Amino acid sequence: MPKIYLIDVTNRDGVQTSRISLSKFQKTMVNYYLSKMGIFQSEFGFPALDNEANYIEGNLRLAEQGVFGNMILEGWTRAVAADVEKALKLTRVKHLNISISTSQIMTAGKFGTRMTREDVLRIMTEAVDAARVGGVQSIGVNAEDASRTDERYDEDYLLRFAVAAKEHGAHRIRYCDTLGYDHTLSIHDSVERLAKAVKLPLEIHCHNDLGYAVANSIEGAMGAISAGVDAYINTTVNGMGERAGNADLVSVILAATKSRGLRDLKVLDERIDLRWAWKICNYVADAFRLPIPINQVGVGANAFAHESGIHADGMLKDRHNYELYSYEEIGRGEREYRETGTMICTGEYGGVKGMRHVLDQLQIQVTDDRKTLKLVQAANAHNQMPLKPDELRFIVEHPDEVAKIMTVNQL
Ligand SMILES: [Zn+2]
Repeated sequence: MPKIYLIDVTNRDGVQTSRISLSKFQKTMVNYYLSKMGIFQSEFGFPALDNEANYIEGNLRLAEQGVFGNMILEGWTRAVAADVEKALKLTRVKHLNISISTSQIMTAGKFGTRMTREDVLRIMTEAVDAARVGGVQSIGVNAEDASRTDERYDEDYLLRFAVAAKEHGAHRIRYCDTLGYDHTLSIHDSVERLAKAVKLPLEIHCHNDLGYAVANSIEGAMGAISAGVDAYINTTVNGMGERAGNADLVSVILAATKSRGLRDLKVLDERIDLRWAWKICNYVADAFRLPIPINQVGVGANAFAHESGIHADGMLKDRHNYELYSYEEIGRGEREYRETGTMICTGEYGGVKGMRHVLDQLQIQVTDDRKTLKLVQAANAHNQMPLKPDELRFIVEHPDEVAKIMTVNQL
Protein backbone atom coordinates (compact mmCIF):
# COMPACT_ATOMS: atom_id res chain seq x y z
CA MET A 1 0.00 0.00 0.00
CA PRO A 2 1.31 3.48 -0.84
CA LYS A 3 2.29 5.78 2.04
CA ILE A 4 2.11 9.40 3.12
CA TYR A 5 5.48 11.12 3.55
CA LEU A 6 6.04 14.61 4.91
CA ILE A 7 7.91 17.47 3.27
CA ASP A 8 8.20 20.36 5.67
CA VAL A 9 8.33 23.79 4.04
CA THR A 10 8.82 26.01 7.12
CA ASN A 11 12.21 27.12 5.79
CA ARG A 12 10.60 28.23 2.51
CA ASP A 13 6.87 29.03 2.77
CA GLY A 14 7.20 29.83 6.49
CA VAL A 15 10.04 32.30 6.16
CA GLN A 16 8.73 33.99 3.01
CA THR A 17 5.62 34.98 4.99
CA SER A 18 5.09 38.68 5.70
CA ARG A 19 6.49 40.07 8.92
CA ILE A 20 8.13 36.90 10.23
CA SER A 21 11.59 35.49 9.59
CA LEU A 22 14.24 33.08 10.83
CA SER A 23 17.99 33.64 10.83
CA LYS A 24 20.12 31.30 8.73
CA PHE A 25 21.29 29.58 11.92
CA GLN A 26 17.70 29.20 13.17
CA LYS A 27 16.74 27.67 9.80
CA THR A 28 19.60 25.21 10.32
CA MET A 29 18.27 24.27 13.77
CA VAL A 30 14.82 23.74 12.21
CA ASN A 31 16.41 21.31 9.72
CA TYR A 32 18.10 19.56 12.64
CA TYR A 33 14.85 19.14 14.62
CA LEU A 34 12.91 18.05 11.51
CA SER A 35 15.50 15.35 10.86
CA LYS A 36 15.24 14.16 14.47
CA MET A 37 11.49 13.98 13.99
CA GLY A 38 11.97 11.63 11.02
CA ILE A 39 10.60 14.01 8.38
CA PHE A 40 11.25 12.78 4.84
CA GLN A 41 12.39 16.07 3.34
CA SER A 42 12.95 19.70 4.31
CA GLU A 43 12.38 22.37 1.70
CA PHE A 44 15.31 24.19 3.19
CA GLY A 45 15.55 27.37 1.19
CA PHE A 46 16.09 29.30 -2.02
CA PRO A 47 19.30 28.14 -3.74
CA ALA A 48 19.00 30.76 -6.51
CA LEU A 49 18.94 33.56 -3.92
CA ASP A 50 22.38 35.08 -3.38
CA ASN A 51 22.02 35.58 0.37
CA GLU A 52 21.15 31.88 0.89
CA ALA A 53 24.29 30.46 -0.78
CA ASN A 54 26.41 29.99 2.36
CA TYR A 55 23.45 28.72 4.37
CA ILE A 56 22.67 26.15 1.66
CA GLU A 57 26.28 25.05 1.33
CA GLY A 58 26.76 24.83 5.11
CA ASN A 59 23.64 22.69 5.47
CA LEU A 60 24.65 20.42 2.58
CA ARG A 61 27.99 19.84 4.35
CA LEU A 62 26.17 19.00 7.59
CA ALA A 63 23.96 16.57 5.65
CA GLU A 64 27.06 14.94 4.11
CA GLN A 65 28.40 14.41 7.64
CA GLY A 66 25.17 12.65 8.62
CA VAL A 67 23.96 15.41 10.96
CA PHE A 68 20.48 15.30 9.42
CA GLY A 69 20.21 11.50 9.21
CA ASN A 70 18.33 10.37 6.12
CA MET A 71 16.37 13.59 5.65
CA ILE A 72 16.60 15.08 2.16
CA LEU A 73 17.37 18.79 1.76
CA GLU A 74 15.58 20.25 -1.24
CA GLY A 75 15.59 23.77 -2.61
CA TRP A 76 12.83 25.81 -4.22
CA THR A 77 13.18 27.88 -7.38
CA ARG A 78 10.88 29.36 -9.99
CA ALA A 79 10.33 26.99 -12.93
CA VAL A 80 12.58 29.03 -15.17
CA ALA A 81 15.74 27.48 -16.67
CA ALA A 82 17.84 30.53 -15.75
CA ASP A 83 16.86 30.21 -12.06
CA VAL A 84 17.60 26.49 -12.02
CA GLU A 85 20.98 27.13 -13.65
CA LYS A 86 21.76 29.88 -11.15
CA ALA A 87 20.81 27.62 -8.23
CA LEU A 88 23.12 24.90 -9.55
CA LYS A 89 25.92 27.41 -10.09
CA LEU A 90 25.64 28.98 -6.62
CA THR A 91 25.14 25.73 -4.67
CA ARG A 92 25.59 21.95 -4.84
CA VAL A 93 21.88 21.36 -4.20
CA LYS A 94 20.79 17.92 -5.46
CA HIS A 95 17.02 18.07 -4.95
CA LEU A 96 14.79 20.79 -6.37
CA ASN A 97 11.15 21.78 -6.50
CA ILE A 98 10.42 24.19 -9.30
CA SER A 99 7.26 26.25 -9.40
CA ILE A 100 5.03 28.02 -11.92
CA SER A 101 1.36 29.04 -11.95
CA THR A 102 -0.99 26.82 -13.89
CA SER A 103 -4.34 28.62 -13.51
CA GLN A 104 -5.72 30.85 -16.23
CA ILE A 105 -6.36 33.60 -13.70
CA MET A 106 -2.69 33.67 -12.61
CA THR A 107 -1.22 33.25 -16.08
CA ALA A 108 -3.31 36.14 -17.39
CA GLY A 109 -3.09 38.13 -14.19
CA LYS A 110 0.70 37.88 -13.86
CA PHE A 111 1.92 37.69 -17.44
CA GLY A 112 -0.88 39.46 -19.36
CA THR A 113 -0.47 38.96 -23.08
CA ARG A 114 3.27 38.27 -22.76
CA MET A 115 2.70 34.60 -22.04
CA THR A 116 0.07 32.03 -22.95
CA ARG A 117 -0.62 28.78 -21.13
CA GLU A 118 1.28 27.00 -23.92
CA ASP A 119 4.29 29.20 -23.06
CA VAL A 120 3.94 28.11 -19.41
CA LEU A 121 4.29 24.45 -20.49
CA ARG A 122 7.38 25.26 -22.56
CA ILE A 123 9.08 27.32 -19.84
CA MET A 124 8.38 24.64 -17.22
CA THR A 125 9.76 21.81 -19.37
CA GLU A 126 12.87 23.87 -20.16
CA ALA A 127 13.39 24.30 -16.41
CA VAL A 128 12.95 20.54 -15.82
CA ASP A 129 15.47 19.89 -18.62
CA ALA A 130 17.93 22.30 -16.98
CA ALA A 131 17.57 20.50 -13.64
CA ARG A 132 17.99 17.06 -15.20
CA VAL A 133 21.00 18.09 -17.30
CA GLY A 134 22.46 19.80 -14.20
CA GLY A 135 22.44 16.46 -12.32
CA VAL A 136 19.53 17.10 -9.96
CA GLN A 137 18.57 13.75 -8.38
CA SER A 138 14.94 14.47 -7.59
CA ILE A 139 12.81 17.04 -9.37
CA GLY A 140 9.41 18.09 -8.09
CA VAL A 141 7.29 20.27 -10.35
CA ASN A 142 4.90 22.57 -8.53
CA ALA A 143 1.60 23.51 -10.13
CA GLU A 144 0.92 26.78 -8.36
CA ASP A 145 -2.82 27.45 -8.00
CA ALA A 146 -3.57 23.89 -9.19
CA SER A 147 -6.99 24.00 -7.50
CA ARG A 148 -8.12 26.92 -9.69
CA THR A 149 -6.57 25.49 -12.86
CA ASP A 150 -9.44 23.42 -14.24
CA GLU A 151 -12.77 24.65 -12.92
CA ARG A 152 -14.42 22.18 -15.28
CA TYR A 153 -13.26 18.59 -15.60
CA ASP A 154 -13.13 18.75 -19.39
CA GLU A 155 -10.32 21.32 -19.40
CA ASP A 156 -7.44 18.99 -18.47
CA TYR A 157 -4.73 21.66 -18.54
CA LEU A 158 -3.35 20.46 -15.20
CA LEU A 159 -3.09 16.95 -16.57
CA ARG A 160 -1.24 18.16 -19.67
CA PHE A 161 1.09 20.11 -17.39
CA ALA A 162 1.82 17.06 -15.22
CA VAL A 163 2.32 14.72 -18.18
CA ALA A 164 4.71 17.20 -19.83
CA ALA A 165 6.67 17.46 -16.56
CA LYS A 166 6.87 13.67 -16.32
CA GLU A 167 8.00 13.29 -19.94
CA HIS A 168 10.88 15.67 -19.23
CA GLY A 169 12.01 13.79 -16.12
CA ALA A 170 10.04 15.11 -13.13
CA HIS A 171 9.80 12.67 -10.23
CA ARG A 172 6.83 14.24 -8.44
CA ILE A 173 4.06 16.76 -9.10
CA ARG A 174 3.08 19.21 -6.38
CA TYR A 175 -0.64 19.97 -6.33
CA CYS A 176 -0.77 23.44 -4.76
CA ASP A 177 -4.01 24.69 -3.29
CA THR A 178 -2.29 28.05 -3.17
CA LEU A 179 -5.30 30.07 -2.05
CA GLY A 180 -6.85 27.41 0.17
CA TYR A 181 -9.77 27.17 -2.26
CA ASP A 182 -10.36 23.41 -2.24
CA HIS A 183 -12.54 21.45 0.13
CA THR A 184 -12.03 17.87 1.21
CA LEU A 185 -14.11 16.20 -1.50
CA SER A 186 -12.82 18.38 -4.33
CA ILE A 187 -9.15 17.89 -3.48
CA HIS A 188 -9.55 14.14 -3.01
CA ASP A 189 -11.19 13.96 -6.41
CA SER A 190 -8.74 16.23 -8.24
CA VAL A 191 -5.64 14.56 -6.80
CA GLU A 192 -6.96 11.04 -7.39
CA ARG A 193 -7.80 11.86 -10.98
CA LEU A 194 -4.41 13.48 -11.61
CA ALA A 195 -2.50 10.66 -9.93
CA LYS A 196 -4.37 7.97 -11.88
CA ALA A 197 -3.62 9.68 -15.18
CA VAL A 198 -0.01 10.74 -14.64
CA LYS A 199 1.13 7.83 -12.43
CA LEU A 200 3.64 9.85 -10.44
CA PRO A 201 3.75 10.44 -6.68
CA LEU A 202 1.81 13.57 -5.78
CA GLU A 203 2.69 16.31 -3.31
CA ILE A 204 -0.16 18.07 -1.55
CA HIS A 205 0.42 21.73 -0.65
CA CYS A 206 -2.48 23.38 1.16
CA HIS A 207 -3.18 26.80 2.61
CA ASN A 208 -5.58 27.68 5.38
CA ASP A 209 -7.56 30.64 4.02
CA LEU A 210 -10.84 28.79 4.57
CA GLY A 211 -9.63 26.77 7.56
CA TYR A 212 -9.27 23.61 5.46
CA ALA A 213 -5.48 23.21 5.27
CA VAL A 214 -5.03 20.11 7.44
CA ALA A 215 -8.25 18.39 6.33
CA ASN A 216 -7.48 19.05 2.66
CA SER A 217 -3.90 17.81 3.05
CA ILE A 218 -5.12 14.51 4.46
CA GLU A 219 -7.93 14.07 1.94
CA GLY A 220 -5.68 15.07 -0.98
CA ALA A 221 -3.12 12.52 0.19
CA MET A 222 -5.82 9.84 0.48
CA GLY A 223 -6.81 10.68 -3.12
CA ALA A 224 -3.25 9.91 -4.25
CA ILE A 225 -3.22 6.71 -2.22
CA SER A 226 -6.49 5.49 -3.68
CA ALA A 227 -4.94 6.08 -7.11
CA GLY A 228 -2.05 3.81 -6.06
CA VAL A 229 0.76 6.36 -5.67
CA ASP A 230 2.63 7.78 -2.66
CA ALA A 231 1.60 11.16 -1.28
CA TYR A 232 3.91 13.83 0.12
CA ILE A 233 2.10 16.32 2.34
CA ASN A 234 3.71 19.76 2.69
CA THR A 235 3.63 21.03 6.28
CA THR A 236 5.00 23.92 8.31
CA VAL A 237 5.82 24.06 12.01
CA ASN A 238 2.94 25.72 13.90
CA GLY A 239 1.19 26.15 10.54
CA MET A 240 3.20 29.30 9.72
CA GLY A 241 3.01 30.31 6.07
CA GLU A 242 1.62 32.83 3.62
CA ARG A 243 -1.49 34.68 4.92
CA ALA A 244 -3.57 32.27 7.08
CA GLY A 245 -0.75 29.73 6.91
CA ASN A 246 -0.07 26.18 5.72
CA ALA A 247 -0.99 22.74 7.03
CA ASP A 248 0.37 22.48 10.58
CA LEU A 249 2.99 19.73 10.96
CA VAL A 250 1.79 18.31 14.28
CA SER A 251 -1.89 18.45 13.26
CA VAL A 252 -1.18 16.55 10.04
CA ILE A 253 0.71 13.82 11.91
CA LEU A 254 -2.06 13.48 14.50
CA ALA A 255 -4.84 13.54 11.89
CA ALA A 256 -3.08 10.87 9.83
CA THR A 257 -2.49 8.58 12.80
CA LYS A 258 -5.28 9.17 15.32
CA SER A 259 -8.46 9.98 13.42
CA ARG A 260 -11.39 7.65 12.95
CA GLY A 261 -10.75 5.43 9.96
CA LEU A 262 -7.10 6.39 9.52
CA ARG A 263 -5.96 5.24 12.94
CA ASP A 264 -5.64 1.60 11.94
CA LEU A 265 -4.54 2.15 8.35
CA LYS A 266 -0.90 2.93 9.25
CA VAL A 267 -0.69 5.15 6.21
CA LEU A 268 1.92 7.61 7.52
CA ASP A 269 5.68 7.14 7.11
CA GLU A 270 6.59 5.07 10.17
CA ARG A 271 9.89 6.86 10.77
CA ILE A 272 8.07 9.91 12.13
CA ASP A 273 8.74 10.43 15.83
CA LEU A 274 6.13 12.76 17.28
CA ARG A 275 8.03 13.00 20.57
CA TRP A 276 10.05 15.86 19.02
CA ALA A 277 6.87 17.92 18.50
CA TRP A 278 7.05 19.86 21.78
CA LYS A 279 10.67 20.78 21.17
CA ILE A 280 10.40 21.91 17.55
CA CYS A 281 7.12 23.80 18.01
CA ASN A 282 8.47 25.76 20.96
CA TYR A 283 11.76 26.42 19.20
CA VAL A 284 9.99 27.82 16.13
CA ALA A 285 7.50 29.83 18.23
CA ASP A 286 10.42 31.52 20.03
CA ALA A 287 12.39 32.05 16.84
CA PHE A 288 9.40 33.67 15.10
CA ARG A 289 8.54 35.51 18.34
CA LEU A 290 5.00 34.18 17.98
CA PRO A 291 3.70 32.36 21.09
CA ILE A 292 1.86 29.07 20.54
CA PRO A 293 -1.91 29.69 20.88
CA ILE A 294 -3.40 28.18 24.05
CA ASN A 295 -5.68 25.91 21.97
CA GLN A 296 -3.03 24.78 19.43
CA VAL A 297 -3.36 21.12 18.44
CA GLY A 298 -1.09 18.92 20.58
CA VAL A 299 1.28 21.63 21.80
CA GLY A 300 -1.07 24.38 23.09
CA ALA A 301 -1.09 25.05 26.84
CA ASN A 302 -4.66 23.74 27.03
CA ALA A 303 -4.22 20.68 24.82
CA PHE A 304 -4.19 18.45 27.92
CA ALA A 305 -5.89 20.72 30.47
CA HIS A 306 -9.24 19.84 32.06
CA GLU A 307 -11.25 21.94 34.50
CA SER A 308 -15.01 21.64 34.07
CA GLY A 309 -16.60 19.24 36.54
CA ILE A 310 -17.67 16.45 34.23
CA HIS A 311 -14.42 16.54 32.23
CA ALA A 312 -12.10 16.64 35.25
CA ASP A 313 -13.99 13.81 36.92
CA GLY A 314 -13.87 11.76 33.72
CA MET A 315 -10.15 12.40 33.28
CA LEU A 316 -9.36 11.42 36.85
CA LYS A 317 -11.11 8.10 36.28
CA ASP A 318 -9.56 7.36 32.87
CA ARG A 319 -7.63 9.75 30.59
CA HIS A 320 -9.17 8.06 27.53
CA ASN A 321 -12.49 9.63 28.48
CA TYR A 322 -11.28 13.01 27.16
CA GLU A 323 -7.92 12.50 25.40
CA LEU A 324 -7.35 10.84 22.02
CA TYR A 325 -3.59 10.75 22.53
CA SER A 326 -1.22 11.25 25.43
CA TYR A 327 1.05 14.18 26.20
CA GLU A 328 3.99 11.77 26.33
CA GLU A 329 3.51 11.05 22.61
CA ILE A 330 3.95 14.76 21.87
CA GLY A 331 7.15 14.93 23.92
CA ARG A 332 5.48 16.84 26.76
CA GLY A 333 5.44 16.18 30.48
CA GLU A 334 9.01 17.02 31.48
CA ARG A 335 9.35 19.62 34.22
CA GLU A 336 10.92 22.73 32.71
CA TYR A 337 13.62 24.49 34.71
CA ARG A 338 13.53 28.28 34.97
CA GLU A 339 16.23 30.27 36.77
CA THR A 340 14.76 32.90 39.05
CA GLY A 341 17.94 33.97 40.88
CA THR A 342 21.37 35.07 39.68
CA MET A 343 21.88 34.38 36.01
CA ILE A 344 25.17 34.34 34.08
CA CYS A 345 24.56 34.63 30.35
CA THR A 346 26.69 34.43 27.23
CA GLY A 347 26.26 36.35 24.01
CA GLU A 348 27.31 39.10 21.65
CA TYR A 349 29.14 41.16 24.29
CA GLY A 350 30.18 38.34 26.63
CA GLY A 351 33.65 37.03 27.46
CA VAL A 352 35.36 33.69 27.96
CA LYS A 353 34.62 33.33 31.70
CA GLY A 354 30.86 33.81 31.34
CA MET A 355 30.72 31.50 28.33
CA ARG A 356 32.68 28.79 30.15
CA HIS A 357 30.30 29.00 33.09
CA VAL A 358 27.25 28.62 30.86
CA LEU A 359 28.78 25.73 28.87
CA ASP A 360 30.00 23.96 32.04
CA GLN A 361 26.48 24.03 33.44
CA LEU A 362 25.22 22.44 30.23
CA GLN A 363 28.10 19.92 30.36
CA ILE A 364 29.34 21.02 26.96
CA GLN A 365 33.07 20.36 26.48
CA VAL A 366 35.05 22.97 24.53
CA THR A 367 38.57 22.64 23.16
CA ASP A 368 39.09 26.11 21.72
CA ASP A 369 37.70 28.83 24.00
CA ARG A 370 38.53 31.79 21.78
CA LYS A 371 37.09 30.32 18.61
CA THR A 372 33.93 29.20 20.42
CA LEU A 373 33.46 32.64 22.00
CA LYS A 374 33.70 34.33 18.60
CA LEU A 375 31.02 32.00 17.25
CA VAL A 376 28.77 32.47 20.29
CA GLN A 377 29.08 36.26 19.97
CA ALA A 378 28.33 36.12 16.24
CA ALA A 379 25.40 33.71 16.70
CA ASN A 380 23.77 35.96 19.29
CA ALA A 381 24.22 38.98 17.01
CA HIS A 382 22.87 36.91 14.11
CA ASN A 383 19.79 35.56 15.96
CA GLN A 384 19.12 38.71 18.01
CA MET A 385 17.95 36.62 20.94
CA PRO A 386 19.62 34.62 23.73
CA LEU A 387 21.13 31.36 22.49
CA LYS A 388 19.43 28.16 23.58
CA PRO A 389 21.26 25.11 24.99
CA ASP A 390 20.78 23.09 21.76
CA GLU A 391 22.15 26.02 19.74
CA LEU A 392 25.25 26.27 21.93
CA ARG A 393 25.76 22.52 21.61
CA PHE A 394 25.34 22.74 17.82
CA ILE A 395 27.90 25.58 17.60
CA VAL A 396 30.46 23.58 19.59
CA GLU A 397 29.86 20.40 17.55
CA HIS A 398 29.86 22.05 14.10
CA PRO A 399 31.91 25.27 14.39
CA ASP A 400 33.09 25.57 10.79
CA GLU A 401 29.68 24.90 9.24
CA VAL A 402 27.94 27.30 11.64
CA ALA A 403 30.52 29.99 10.80
CA LYS A 404 29.80 29.55 7.11
CA ILE A 405 26.00 29.50 7.60
CA MET A 406 26.08 32.79 9.52
CA THR A 407 28.19 34.51 6.86
CA VAL A 408 25.50 36.09 4.75
CA ASN A 409 27.52 37.38 1.84
CA GLN A 410 27.49 36.97 -1.95
CA LEU A 411 25.60 40.25 -2.28
ZN1 LIG B 1 2.44 27.89 -0.24
